[in-house]
Amino acid sequence: MIEAPGEVARAYVGLGANLGDPLAQMRAAVAALGKLPTTIVAGVSSVYRSAPVGYLDQPDFFNAVVALDTALSPQALLDALLAIEHEGGRTREFRNAPRLIDLDLLLHGERIVDEPRLTVPHPRMVDRAFVLLPLAELDPACVVPGAGPLAALTRAVSAQAIGRIGALAAG
Ligand code: ATP
Ligand code: CA
Ligand code: CA
Repeated sequence: MIEAPGEVARAYVGLGANLGDPLAQMRAAVAALGKLPTTIVAGVSSVYRSAPVGYLDQPDFFNAVVALDTALSPQALLDALLAIEHEGGRTREFRNAPRLIDLDLLLHGERIVDEPRLTVPHPRMVDRAFVLLPLAELDPACVVPGAGPLAALTRAVSAQAIGRIGALAAG
């Protein structure tokens, strides 16, 4: 086991997929998260389904949120997320393009990070029902640093069409 510096923090990772077998790719991503050094998977939300935004001519998206207890720094965790995406066959073609698997670092404890390649909290999470609803399952009392209580943020996106399709069952 590689030792990582720092205290254990509760981090939340957003999963998204809309190509191939989205649920299988999301399960594989959760398994990979659970193998990261100094990290345990503390919870996995239900899966939500939503229509694409931005580039519309692509399949519906499946999304979920994973809670991690980790001693990895935000930067080390981002590197790990990008590596898991790469293992999952992710390629970057254009913004909002279809993808096999996308992992976003939503929150890392109370930390605020504003660096060229990493912004935490994830800057667009507060606009997205497909992030806020699964996050609320895992931590309804969550307060997003710089944005406020999750309950109020969730109410603000209540018009977004999104369906809860059930657990990300193993297998
Ligand atoms: P969005 O960020 O709007 O959800 P996306 O997930 O499709 O869009 P990507 O192409 O996956 O965007 O990410 C582009 C870059 O965003 C990554 O290479 C990474 O360096 C940067 N980035 C900045 N902050 C974060 C974060 N909190 N989580 C993940 N990536 C981030
Ligand atoms: Ca994303
Ligand atoms: Ca991403």
